[in-house]
Amino acid sequence: MSKFWSPFVKTLVPYVPGEQPKLSKLVKLNTNENPYGPSPRAIAAMQAEIGDSLRLYPDPNGERLKQAVADYYGVQPAQVFVGNGSDEVLAHAFHGLFQHGKPLLFPDVTYSFYPVYCGLYGIEYETIALDQSFQIEVADYDRPNGGIIFPNPNAPTGRVLGLSAIERLLQANTDSVVLVDEAYIDFGGESAIALVDRYPNLLVTQTLSKSRSLAGLRVGLAVGHPDLIEALERIKNSFNSYPLDRIAIAGAAAAFEDREHFQQTCQQVIASREAVVAAMTALGFEVLPSAANFIFARHPQQDAATLAASLREEGIIVRHFKLPRIDQFLRITIGTPEQNQALLDALSR
Ligand code: PMP
Repeated sequence: MSKFWSPFVKTLVPYVPGEQPKLSKLVKLNTNENPYGPSPRAIAAMQAEIGDSLRLYPDPNGERLKQAVADYYGVQPAQVFVGNGSDEVLAHAFHGLFQHGKPLLFPDVTYSFYPVYCGLYGIEYETIALDQSFQIEVADYDRPNGGIIFPNPNAPTGRVLGLSAIERLLQANTDSVVLVDEAYIDFGGESAIALVDRYPNLLVTQTLSKSRSLAGLRVGLAVGHPDLIEALERIKNSFNSYPLDRIAIAGAAAAFEDREHFQQTCQQVIASREAVVAAMTALGFEVLPSAANFIFARHPQQDAATLAASLREEGIIVRHFKLPRIDQFLRITIGTPEQNQALLDALSR
């Protein structure tokens, strides 16, 4: 802290991202990246951007990417917003779409960036407890609110809600925005983008960091009613008119266009997840049903912090959250079959 800090900055409690170690020999199962590379078509599109055109500013509207997303989901480009990672898209949504004076609602066990944005934008919030099986109970959200946000599948639990539960939430909250954060939707959930034409209070965010294996590129998006998208554009244009660079726009658009690579790699991750769940259950772990590219598991006799530390000694990094209700769980990203085997071998030792 220094005397030059504003009183506001002194109160900020920033998000702490998962560790990104330099040592590549570690088996890195801690930040839910995709073990398979991005689409070769995306790589080629990005390489094609590296040249004289970098002299020029990118398209401030990212039209090429918006069109690719619109084509993929059967919506209009005016229903799509793109930004520098879904974290940035979420930041704009917190800034521009959640009301003040009534609390924003989100689960007690969820993505820990949400309370950070509440701190940044002065939004009050209330957390709603997950049920005994760590699932979101939508009826518990029937209370005055300035908005609702949750990941689907939820993070770090991996549990997914069906579209009928989400519709129930949208119908009961017509005066506030319901934001469904679909960072992990492609690994087993049904996207609520199918509902955006019917519910003007629905905003869905997604990322290219997980199922499209482009975490290093930082691209995220939102889909919703054009009025919600316009609010995000206003915030964005008051902050940075060029959130995405030329390389990111080209690479992300091509990643959406390459459906084959996307489907194939998602299927591989899903098949590996099911194999890891079966093997860990056989080792005595309780594993929550996961629709994501990670699992959330605890062992009735083994302390989670100790387990994480001993895995680390064997060169395997997983995520352990020292948080209420979940401090005995480990969140483990699904890796390649070889990485998963290394994990299972270490756990059986
Ligand atoms: N939402 C959830 C639930 C996440 O777990 C993550 C990844 N940490 C994000 C959003 C942000 O992803 P990104 O900024 O890489 O798009």
